[in-house]
Amino acid sequence: MQSELTPGEVVLVGGGPGDPDLLTVAGLRAIQQADVVVHDRLGANAALAETRADAELVNVGKIPRGDFTPQEDINALLVDRACKGLKVVRLKGGDSFVFGRGGEEWLACAEAGVPVRVIPGVTSAVSVPALAGIPVTHRGMSQGFTVVSGHVPPGDPRSDVNWDALARSGTTLVLLMAVQNLPLIAAHLIGAGLSATTPTAIVSDGSTEHQHRLSSTLGEVGDVAEVEGVRPPAIVVVGEVAGFDFSAVG
Ligand code: SAH
Repeated sequence: MQSELTPGEVVLVGGGPGDPDLLTVAGLRAIQQADVVVHDRLGANAALAETRADAELVNVGKIPRGDFTPQEDINALLVDRACKGLKVVRLKGGDSFVFGRGGEEWLACAEAGVPVRVIPGVTSAVSVPALAGIPVTHRGMSQGFTVVSGHVPPGDPRSDVNWDALARSGTTLVLLMAVQNLPLIAAHLIGAGLSATTPTAIVSDGSTEHQHRLSSTLGEVGDVAEVEGVRPPAIVVVGEVAGFDFSAVG
């Protein structure tokens, strides 16, 4: 991994799920060298303490259903700072290319002739289940996992996810951004043939001191989430592996 930042380049850094120890070494080095760090609400924001004293820090955090900086403005900011010859880090939660809109930022830089590269991050889709004691695959139980965004519900014209196929996929389902639509998603999966008794876990604030796991079934997970007042960010794991809690074993 190239560890020196070049003036005038944008580096898309995946910050991991939140705990700064889950930032990669390359990601940390980039943050330490940056002239500008454009960061979000999610991710290893504690690592911002590692920036140079004279670095510019810009918070463009998107809050679900709240105020947010339009993606076009973020793209323009990255291009503007790079064109001024600055070393620009775009710090995102997890991995920039997993629901991180890193691809759009890459294309905006490329169109503007700005050099851009990516430092991969530890995605919450795998790390948050692991930290809660859930392996997304397990020999003899699950030969795969499917990572899906639940930010639009099944049947919504904006959704391009085939939820019926997911119900029959035989893989573990890992749902991101699914808290709001969880009752609709669970009902749809059950209607499409997935058993209502399928173990289902919700893990919120993974890797932080507030990490919390709720274990239930697909049939009950919607009610459980509502009664417990689950709030984003949370990962929902549907499948036999969600019956494990390795953190309580051994
Ligand atoms: N690029 C990120 C995902 C961004 S989408 C990644 O690779 O992890 C935002 C969603 O990620 C949240 O709604 C939630 O579903 C999930 N998420 C991110 N960080 C999380 C955390 N610390 N705990 C639980 N879920 C998290």
